[in-house]
Amino acid sequence: MKELGKVSLRAFNTFGCEAHARHIVQLEGMEDLVQLEGAAFDANSDLVLGGGSNILFAKDVPGTAYLVRLKGREVVEEQRDSVLVDAAAGESWHELVLWSLQQGWSGLENLSLIPGLAGAAPMQNIGAYGVELSDLLDSVLVRDWRSGEQRRISHHDCEFAYRDSRFKSRDAHRFLILSCRLRLERAFRPVTGYSGLREELAGMGVKKPRPSDVSEAVVRMRERKLPNPVHIGNAGSFFKNPQLPLENAWRLAEKFPGLPVHQVGTGDAKVSAAWMIEHCGWKGHRRGDAAVSGQHALVLVNHGTASGPEILDLARDVARSVEQTFGIALQAEPFIFGSSLYPEDSTA
Ligand code: FAD
Ligand code: NAP
Repeated sequence: MKELGKVSLRAFNTFGCEAHARHIVQLEGMEDLVQLEGAAFDANSDLVLGGGSNILFAKDVPGTAYLVRLKGREVVEEQRDSVLVDAAAGESWHELVLWSLQQGWSGLENLSLIPGLAGAAPMQNIGAYGVELSDLLDSVLVRDWRSGEQRRISHHDCEFAYRDSRFKSRDAHRFLILSCRLRLERAFRPVTGYSGLREELAGMGVKKPRPSDVSEAVVRMRERKLPNPVHIGNAGSFFKNPQLPLENAWRLAEKFPGLPVHQVGTGDAKVSAAWMIEHCGWKGHRRGDAAVSGQHALVLVNHGTASGPEILDLARDVARSVEQTFGIALQAEPFIFGSSLYPEDSTA
C-alpha cells in the first residue's frame, strides 16, 4: 500500500478537472487489504478510483481516495468450449481484451478500447456495439466496506441492467471490487448487428471475421468517432440513452421524425440521447472550456481548464432543454462525486 498524502486528482480523471483529495492510498496487492481492516468508508468523503474515465469531480474529496492498482490475470478453469479467467481490478480493460484475443478466446472483442480498469467494468455493466459485460461475467470478488469481509457475488446477484448494476444503484459504495471472473469462449460467435460495425468490417475487406478483426474494426471506429481523452478531457458518453415502453418511443418518433429508436427485448425501446441533444442545438456548444463535443453530442468535453462544477452546469442545462423539448429526463452515466445531475433528486 502506497500513501501519497494530499495530491491533485487532475491526472487521475480523464476529464482532466482539478480536484484534491485529503489523502490518497494506492492499493497494489491483496496484502494491502489487511491494512484496510477497521477503515470506515464514508461515501460523502471517500472514493474508490480506477482509471477515472467515468467520473466527474463536483467537489474535492475531503477524505481518502483509494486508487485500485491490484494486478493479475489467471485462468481458473479450462473447459472444452470455454475458459474462466480472473482479472484483478487494477488491470487495464483494453489490455485484458487484447490479451484474451491473443490466447485465442473470444467474447470481449466488441468491448475493445473502452478506457479504464477491470474493477470498474461491473459498476455500469460496460457495453458497446451490442455486447455488455454481463454477457461474459461469471462473478465478482468484492470486499464489503461494512464488514471488511470478502465474498464472491454471482452474475445473477450483480443485478445487471443497461449501464447499471447493483454496485451503482442499490449497493452503491458498499463494495470494493477486487476482481472479475469472466467466461470466454474458444469458438467464435460474432456479434456484428450494429450497422457501423458491419460496414467497417466490409470496408476492411473482411467477409468472415475473426475476433481480432472485430476488435480492430471497433478500435478504428472508436478512434475516428470519439474524442480521445489524451488530447481533450472527457468521460465518454455523459448521458445514458433513455429506455421507454416501445409505444411511447414510437409516439415520440412520430412527433420527431428521424429520432432513432432501437427495440430492447419485447416491450421497451432505447431512444438516442445524442440525437435529442443535437436537435436541441447543443452539439459543439462551448461555454468557457466546458463544451458539448462537436464530434459526438453525447460527450461533454473539457477544452483545458473547465472545473467539474462548470461541466456539471452545462450538463444540467443540456438535460433541462432535452426535458423541455422531449419530456424525457436524461440520466448521467458517469459518477458525479459530490453532487448529481438533478440535485433535488439523488436517485437520478
Ligand atoms: P472510474 O472512473 O475510476 O470509476 C467509475 C466508478 O466506478 C466510480 O463510481 C468509482 O468509485 C467506481 N469504481 C472504480 N473501480 C472500482 C472498484 N475496484 N471497486 C468499486 N468501485 C469502483 N463505458 C462503456 O460502458 N462503454 C463504452 O463504450 C465506453 N466508452 C468510453 C469512451 C471514452 C473515450 C471514455 C473516456 C469513457 C468511456 N466509457 C465507456 C466509460 C468508462 O470508460 C467505463 O465506464 C469504465 O469502465 C470506467 O472505468 P474506470 O476504471 O476509469 O472507472
Ligand atoms: P452508434 O453506433 O453511432 O449508435 C448510436 C446509438 O444507437 C448508440 O448509442 C447505440 O446504443 C444505438 N444503436 C446503434 N445500433 C444499434 C443496434 N443495432 N441495436 C441497438 N442499439 C443500437 O454509437 P456510437 O456513439 O458510435 O458508439 C458505439 C458504441 O460504443 C455504442 O454501443 C456505445 O454505447 C458505445 N460507447 C459508449 C460510450 C460510453 O461512455 N458509455 C462512449 C462511446 C461509445 P448503445 O449506446 O446502447 O449501444
